[in-house]
Amino acid sequence: MKVLVTGGAGYVGSTCTAVLVEAGHDVTVVDNLTTGSREAVVDGAKFVEADAGEAADELLANGNFDGVIHFAARSLVGESEQVPDEYWRDNLGTSLQLLEAMRRHNCNNLVFSSTAATYGEPTKVPITEDAPTNPTNAYGATKLAIDYAIASYCRGYKLGATSLRYFNVAGAYGTIGENRRIETHLIPLVLQVALGHRDKIMIFGDDWPTPDGTCIRDYIHIRDLADAHLLALASNTPGKHRIFNLGSGDGYSVNEVIAACRKHTGHPIPAEVAPRRAGDPAVLVASSEKIQEELGWNPTRTDLDTIVQDAWAFTSQLGDRAYSAGKR
Ligand code: UDP
Repeated sequence: MKVLVTGGAGYVGSTCTAVLVEAGHDVTVVDNLTTGSREAVVDGAKFVEADAGEAADELLANGNFDGVIHFAARSLVGESEQVPDEYWRDNLGTSLQLLEAMRRHNCNNLVFSSTAATYGEPTKVPITEDAPTNPTNAYGATKLAIDYAIASYCRGYKLGATSLRYFNVAGAYGTIGENRRIETHLIPLVLQVALGHRDKIMIFGDDWPTPDGTCIRDYIHIRDLADAHLLALASNTPGKHRIFNLGSGDGYSVNEVIAACRKHTGHPIPAEVAPRRAGDPAVLVASSEKIQEELGWNPTRTDLDTIVQDAWAFTSQLGDRAYSAGKR
């Protein structure tokens, strides 16, 4: 297949690009490199440095693409509450430009990178796809709004689309892993302590209504996540919008994650309890039964030990290339 990948220089997009190329697809990545990195894009993919929304029309007019996987987005929850205008423009605005370009140039196969943040505070766990959607931050709201736009393009213009709602993506695949200029995620931050780039990890609250008092999340391995995109792309049907959760069905507390990182790094990883982080739900765990049943998705690396081992194998070889190295 000839596939356009927007945001294919980011952590998730570049992993998916690598897996697409390995599977023999002809891949073009468009990315403006505001958060992504050019080196993360595998050699076998073509690369266009541009804003995905602005470039979409020209790319789709001339590219003859069979499908699009849309990752390009801003994705920091806290930041989205501080500069919501930027999130609505960069997430919803870009997606609308892309949808229009796809419609105009008769490309009707889309996979959209969505998030558990569309659900907000869960009313029951594990979260199924029919759970209420009440996002608690602008990031989740922009992704939910895009889902509504996609659904109406499917009804009105026979687009075939799948929205994949990720829970906590982590781990690494070969030379691709988490190495962001601004890091806010638990596992890479804990591993930065093991690297010696941070003194300690702050635990955001130990008074949550959970067995050990720390928040529980559902961690999914980046390689398993990438597989789901290929399955979705291969099975979209014109006129239909599908939504699938991507998680493991198992929850791990912040303390359990830190313990797993201690085990696999051999580092004591000092931790300190800090106040709760605004907007954090106590427990987020996905049911991914729907995608397993309907698409045959079969996660093979999604267990905490494999995730942490792979993340550490990647992080520990970064050396000076780690963005955190500069923060010593
Ligand atoms: N967390 C933490 N300390 C940190 C970063 C995160 O205690 O330095 C907690 C956070 O409150 C949440 C969990 O770890 O309960 C996972 O957070 P992350 O930012 O990785 O993902 P999120 O669940 O927000 O998408």
